Amino acid sequence: MKKNSNKGLQVEEPLIFEQSSPGACGVDFPEMEISKNKLGGNHRVKPIGLPNLSEPAAVRHYLRISQKNYCIDSGLYPLGSCTMKHNPRLNEKMARKPGLVDIHPLQPQSTVQGALELIYVCSEWLTKLTGMPGIAMSPAAGAHGELTGLMTIRAALEDRGNPRKKVLVPESAHGTNPASAQMCGYEIESIPANSSGRVDTEKLLGRLDKTVAAIMITNPNTCGLFEDQIVQVADAVHEIGGFLYCDGANFNAIVGRVKPGDLKIDSMHLNLHKTFSTPHGGGGPGSGPVVLSKELADYAPLPFVVKTDDRFELIESAEDTDKKPFGRIKGFHGQFGVFVRALTYMLSMGSDGLRQASGDAVLSANYLLAQLKDDLSISFEGPCMHEVLIDDRFLKDTGVTTLDFAKAMIDEGFHPMTMYFPLVVPGALLMEPTETESKKSLDNYIDSVISLAKKAATENTKHFKDAPKYTPRRRLDETAAARNPILRWKPEKNSKNNSR
Ligand SMILES: *Cc1c(COP(=O)(O)O)cnc(C)c1O
Repeated sequence: MKKNSNKGLQVEEPLIFEQSSPGACGVDFPEMEISKNKLGGNHRVKPIGLPNLSEPAAVRHYLRISQKNYCIDSGLYPLGSCTMKHNPRLNEKMARKPGLVDIHPLQPQSTVQGALELIYVCSEWLTKLTGMPGIAMSPAAGAHGELTGLMTIRAALEDRGNPRKKVLVPESAHGTNPASAQMCGYEIESIPANSSGRVDTEKLLGRLDKTVAAIMITNPNTCGLFEDQIVQVADAVHEIGGFLYCDGANFNAIVGRVKPGDLKIDSMHLNLHKTFSTPHGGGGPGSGPVVLSKELADYAPLPFVVKTDDRFELIESAEDTDKKPFGRIKGFHGQFGVFVRALTYMLSMGSDGLRQASGDAVLSANYLLAQLKDDLSISFEGPCMHEVLIDDRFLKDTGVTTLDFAKAMIDEGFHPMTMYFPLVVPGALLMEPTETESKKSLDNYIDSVISLAKKAATENTKHFKDAPKYTPRRRLDETAAARNPILRWKPEKNSKNNSR
């Protein structure tokens, strides 16, 4: 590695193992008074390859790594379908309370009544906001919630004597939808979108027969549009004895305004880490509770909290309930730390505040749509819900692709928008600003997007092909990274790094 490849305050940061220098240590201990021999035979005799660093070197290493991470705390994060909103610090403060942090899932229930009450109250908020009677709190994220929802549906159908064969999934769905249905043993049938960006209901209804276990629909959908025929779809699938699953990842657009129960949905996951402001990205932590209709509620997985006259009880075994849980989807009761954050958010916002948040999220997205519509190509006529879908028609004949455009956003100081998803329009650019951006910050973003669109139109392709210019790494070979990943660092044989 070149020694001075640093740029400004962006420091080239070697791996912690490469920074090891033999004997360096965070704390200096006096020589031990007892000799090795007196310790007996079981103590460590060979070095195990830990890096040797002083405390300041270790602190700098982790701080520098943290600064390489673009996050919602550093700037606007318009990643469509991900709801990257501000995470209020109050949530974090509550989640760090010793009484909540220092408990263990195997403690006797009598000693964690407050924690069980917290799970119970959180679940009550979620069932009220969705107008659905049942809930499974344990799924660890959205996709895990989809799997749970479909396993619940399967259990209910098996109980009636036939699990059925197929699940219908619109082509605009998140990839996790067909994957979840497939893992549950179902065949997937893909349903096309119509010219207005919604599911083609006529085609959908034409595919319904008694082999269909469920329809999975996303509402608002991934084109940022409300599926206005959803009640008709629900009626039709109920008619043939199937269920309606809703991917609720986009609940932020309608929370406090529309109750999914009123749309006759049977099962829907909520991404607490999206709608309810808990931090996510980089693989976690998430939380994906699933709300359930009356027909499905009894099949929800173990464990679950019930309220008795004088206490809260965690039901951990099918023998302790007259319900019919399909089993367990996760060890223990779910992502407790996320429940604390999400409940803090709901309590501090109140139901009026949540209603205002969804309104503001939709307003922000429509502001983007209005400001961008002349210079970019909006895929479907507005108004939109919480996100704006743009396709690559505005880049036609410019030599600039959606990928190039997204990379150029990095040089402007923004995290790129979601690209090439959903698949229903060519070269998609999906932007979700959320309600926590000010008008000033939206205007900054809009200025950057429009100036790039104008640059592309004037055939300045080099600007795009070279992007990103200001990052520690430039364009990566994404194909090689996916096909030939090198996931493990190995020390050179006999290197000094392996000295301890
Ligand atoms: C985020 C998302 C999911 C998956 O949720 P995870 O929590 O990432 O597993 C599913 N569907 C849609 C539409 C999403 O945006």
